[in-house]
Amino acid sequence: MSVRAKAGDSSTPVLGSVPDSASEPASVSVAELGRAITRRQWLRGGLTVGATVALAACGAASPPNEEETATPAPNRPGPGQQPAKSGSPNAAQAIVIGAGIAGLAAARALVDGGVSVIVLEARDRIGGRIWTNRTMGMPIDLGASWIHGIQGNPLSTLADKVGAARVTTDYESVALYDQKGVRVDEAVVSATRKNFAALVAAVDAYREEQDGDMPLAKAIAAVRGKIASGDALHRLDFAVHTTIEHEYAASVQALSMQHWDAGDEGAGDDQVFPGGYDQLLTPLAAGVDVRLSQVVTQVQHSDDGCTVHTQGATYQAEQVLVTVPLGVLKAGGVAFVPPLPARKQTAVSRLGFGLLDKLALRFDAPFWPANLMIDRDDAQYGRWAEALNLQPVLGKPILLCFNAADYAQKMQSKSDAEAVADALAALRSVFGVGVPEPKAFLRTRWGADPFARGSYSFLAVGATPDDRDALAEPVGEHLYFAGEATHRGHAGTVHGALLSGKAAAVAMLAA
Ligand SMILES: Cc1cc2nc3c(=O)[nH]c(=O)nc-3n(C[C@H](O)[C@H](O)[C@H](O)COP(=O)(O)OP(=O)(O)OC[C@H]3O[C@@H](n4cnc5c(N)ncnc54)[C@H](O)[C@@H]3O)c2cc1C
Repeated sequence: MSVRAKAGDSSTPVLGSVPDSASEPASVSVAELGRAITRRQWLRGGLTVGATVALAACGAASPPNEEETATPAPNRPGPGQQPAKSGSPNAAQAIVIGAGIAGLAAARALVDGGVSVIVLEARDRIGGRIWTNRTMGMPIDLGASWIHGIQGNPLSTLADKVGAARVTTDYESVALYDQKGVRVDEAVVSATRKNFAALVAAVDAYREEQDGDMPLAKAIAAVRGKIASGDALHRLDFAVHTTIEHEYAASVQALSMQHWDAGDEGAGDDQVFPGGYDQLLTPLAAGVDVRLSQVVTQVQHSDDGCTVHTQGATYQAEQVLVTVPLGVLKAGGVAFVPPLPARKQTAVSRLGFGLLDKLALRFDAPFWPANLMIDRDDAQYGRWAEALNLQPVLGKPILLCFNAADYAQKMQSKSDAEAVADALAALRSVFGVGVPEPKAFLRTRWGADPFARGSYSFLAVGATPDDRDALAEPVGEHLYFAGEATHRGHAGTVHGALLSGKAAAVAMLAA
């Protein structure tokens, strides 16, 4: 499936998708798959025990701010006490643009605070970049998959509330293949992890000596040769791709050397949902007036309130909360009248919006090892570098293959047939020519999706965390902003988006 959403249609299967007879989502025990370490700890060199201990000692790992997660209560008469502009069905005290988790979390808090709310969503579904697709007969998450850092995370609370089963990811369960298709020895994998930790430390030291910003790639280039050579250096470059570029959905050429890793660490393991991430949306959306297939084109804002134009209707509200992705703001998908302040426009243009795409391939039987992650190096940098083995999660022989950054950009223009053929060729280079055609596939192209225009935000060269604050700032007392890109501590994540929505609702209730 390609993410080629048009208004009112969040994309349809286009080729070769042959779902099995529908079956119930696999029942999976929540047992841990092994000692787990989070992906972000990878980035901080957490794969060496010493580094993990050091992180804990410095308190680098911190749960998302619990205060932010509390449901806000109005502290003085807010828009809930103001009459709506008219009794029309298109008027409310607050309009939320976007029914992703930021918009839904805000709407939930506003409704619970006694405010009348209309949520306007361009797609024909809620969830935005949380997108659980069940056409294969089981839940496949084509947007977010993981809760990053389960401790103190409001998503854990939500998941408990709906009784959503979770499976902990063991990032150490990796089968790594070299360019000849030969599986790399565990000791070599371990040495690569240590080299990667050393590289991150060396980049940290290097940037402390620099005044200005530059691409992270330049800093890596300056130190990598001191850490490894020959094949070990090649494997180090591969680790940079599968950890940094996959994590941030951006190339090291695009990432800011000074700020690429700014933000707070989540604490605890990472977990996925065998029953689908979208289970978490239900309690947020319950009883909320969400209007689907409403593509907002313009927001007029003034001291008197706001008028929101969609392709076919006009809505009015005292307050408007904009949660559309940064990619949509960058593309000018929503016009603001009057234009947004210069500081906010600068933030929109300076922050980066990256690309991570998925291709789920369903086979009759697994031909890959039992490891959770299947990593393969390729002569073409970044080509189908990583796959998540969903067999232990769903009990079905499905590989969820990833592309990020430059290779993902390259695949945007490829047809589904070409993308599947490319992924199969990559798998056959490791597992042999006997790898069969998949029984079904699902594919994303988040960059081509008009209601996302990419996957999630990152700090590009020249951007700083202050740009996220500028993006989050309200304009006057009537126009508010939320969404993952606005969250300084946890951008690029579901919980960051949720926290941003709740924070905006608190501000709206207090205005
Ligand atoms: C492939 C992929 C993998 C990811 N993996 C993870 C992960 O494992 N863990 C994690 O924590 N995060 C992950 N993320 C990031 C996470 O999905 C997002 O940070 C989060 O879902 C963003 O929520 P949001 O509410 O800010 O934005 P969105 O979910 O994008 O919501 C914004 C909403 O606005 C709507 N919209 C856009 N334009 C308009 C318009 N003109 N009018 C009306 N509505 C409009 C959109 O349709 C959308 O529903 C991943 C993202 C992607 C794409």
